[in-house]
Amino acid sequence: MQCPICEKNNQHHHLEIYRNQHIVVSHAPLDANILGYIYIEPLDHYENWSDIPLEVLNDVQTIMKKIDLFLRNEQLAERVYSVTISEMVRHIHYHIIPRHKDMKVKGVSLIEKATQQIANENDIELTIDQVDQFIEKAQKSINI
Ligand SMILES: [Zn+2]
Repeated sequence: MQCPICEKNNQHHHLEIYRNQHIVVSHAPLDANILGYIYIEPLDHYENWSDIPLEVLNDVQTIMKKIDLFLRNEQLAERVYSVTISEMVRHIHYHIIPRHKDMKVKGVSLIEKATQQIANENDIELTIDQVDQFIEKAQKSINI
């Protein structure tokens, strides 16, 4: 079965923020409806942590530190959640989910909604312009 993450990262795509030889960083789809919700994905297909080379994990952690700082500097996150589930899609990837100070839904509930792409905070819909601006700023800030 074709892996949707490998397929997506086969080429550059619209929501991509950063890539190097080890990892791809991109904004989550608009449907998730959280500005600053980011995926960090190893470029190669790994299904187990024990299979991931340390240099790849090092890049994941380095970019995670930069994203954390960026999200908090941009006032998008009071807390920054990170989670890997890799149940539906086996290719191990991190979800970086910013929890804004005004969000009523927190913790595991927010993670559940975000990862199912139904985080409809106040029925305000995220626009592609907001995401494009975010990506542009993020690219300047988090390049490693
Ligand atoms: Zn894959």
